[in-house]
Amino acid sequence: MVKTVSKPKRKYYVCEECNFAYIDKKFASKCENWCREHHSCNMEITKHAVNL
Ligand SMILES: [Zn+2]
Repeated sequence: MVKTVSKPKRKYYVCEECNFAYIDKKFASKCENWCREHHSCNMEITKHAVNL
């Protein structure tokens, strides 16, 4: 399950597999599905990740 992290200004969705954080839940879900299946990161997805 995608985790949520609340920061003072906004909420982030975090992939539980690789811990990348996303503003958009759909990318976090995609990332998590990808990470589970492939045990690696997909650049097309992780480029949408943000630094917390
Ligand atoms: Zn991931």
